[in-house]
Amino acid sequence: MECKAIVIDLDGTVYHGDNIIDDADKVIALLAKSYKVLFLTNNSTRSRADYIDKLERFGISCSKYQVITSGYASAKYIKQKYGDSRVYVIGENGLKKELVEQDIQLCEEDCNIVLVGLDNEFSYSKMAKALTFILAGAAFIATNNDPFLITTEQVKPGAGALVASIERASGTKAIVTGKPSTFICDLLVNELKVAPEEILMVGDRLDTDIQIGINGAMKTALVLTGATKMCELEQSSISPDYIVKSISEIPTILDKNHRA
Ligand SMILES: [Mg+2]
Repeated sequence: MECKAIVIDLDGTVYHGDNIIDDADKVIALLAKSYKVLFLTNNSTRSRADYIDKLERFGISCSKYQVITSGYASAKYIKQKYGDSRVYVIGENGLKKELVEQDIQLCEEDCNIVLVGLDNEFSYSKMAKALTFILAGAAFIATNNDPFLITTEQVKPGAGALVASIERASGTKAIVTGKPSTFICDLLVNELKVAPEEILMVGDRLDTDIQIGINGAMKTALVLTGATKMCELEQSSISPDYIVKSISEIPTILDKNHRA
C-alpha cells in the first residue's frame, strides 16, 4: 500500500472522554510528519472548533480542515441538497454551531427538515415535535446511527438510539450523513485530495469506521481500544485489513508495508 493519508476516528481511538489512549499524541505527531492526517468523528455534540480545542488539550494540534464531524457533514448535506431550509434540530450546541456556520436557519415551527444528533436533553416532547414535522412532510436526517458511546465513566445511548425512536414513531427511515455514508466519505476524500486507496482509515467500530473504509475503497485498521471486542470481530462479516491493539501500532503497519 502506498499510503498518503490517515483518517483517524476520535472516541475510542484517540481518547476515552478526558483520557488519552496510549501515546496517541506522540503517534499522531509522528504520523503527521509523513502523512496527511484527518480526524473523523460521528459525535456531533461538539463543533469542529471545539474538537480542535479538545485535541489541543491532549497536545495534538490541527486545523479546522483536519476535522470532519457528522454535524459538519449534516450541515453541508442540508445546504447542498435543500439550500435555504428551516431546520428543527435535536442536538447539542456543537451541532447547532455547524448549521449556523452554513447559514442554515434553526426553527421551532414550519420546519421542512428534522435533524437528529446526540442530545443529552432528549425528551418525549422533542420526539413528539420531530414526529409532527415528519408527518407533515419534513425530511428526516440523522447525523449518525451509532447505538452507544463509551465515556470515561459509562456506556451511554448514542444518536442512533434517539433516531430509532423517531423512526419507529414515524415509520420513516432517517437519511444518515455521518459514517459510514457516501456523503461524508466524499467530503473527506475531497478534503484530502488523494485517491481513496491511498487512505488508511483507523477506528474502533466495525459498522462505521471500518464500513466507511470498505465502502470508500480505502485501507482499514481496527483498534481494539474502543467499541469492538475480539469476539465480536470473529462473528462479524465486516473485515478490516489490519487489526491492532491500539493506535500506537499504526506506524509499524505503515512501516512494514512501505518496506514490503
Ligand atoms: Mg470511535
